[in-house]
Amino acid sequence: MQPILTELLNLPGIEVENYTKVADRLILEVEAKTTKAKCPRCGEESNHLHQNRWYFARDLSISGQEVLLKVNRRQFKCKKCEKPFSEELEFIGKRRKQTRLFWV
Ligand SMILES: [Zn+2]
Repeated sequence: MQPILTELLNLPGIEVENYTKVADRLILEVEAKTTKAKCPRCGEESNHLHQNRWYFARDLSISGQEVLLKVNRRQFKCKKCEKPFSEELEFIGKRRKQTRLFWV
């Protein structure tokens, strides 16, 4: 965990795990703090990690430096439905409009 970068990013429930610098871009690896997510089908909570799925989103710039968020939107598997589902990341939903073009 990167406490200073986590504080700087200031997204509730989100931690900066790591960072790298590529050319003039700062890439922050971020992940939700919670270890479980609620199944959108049945509402059951699952902590059974199915797989990690990484996305890139352009975010703010810090001191004129472009910052990319490398977001781990994890997939959990619901024991009840026996199907995987992606966790809800509130900040992605809110920013999707601005960041859609940059998602890969
Ligand atoms: Zn379910």
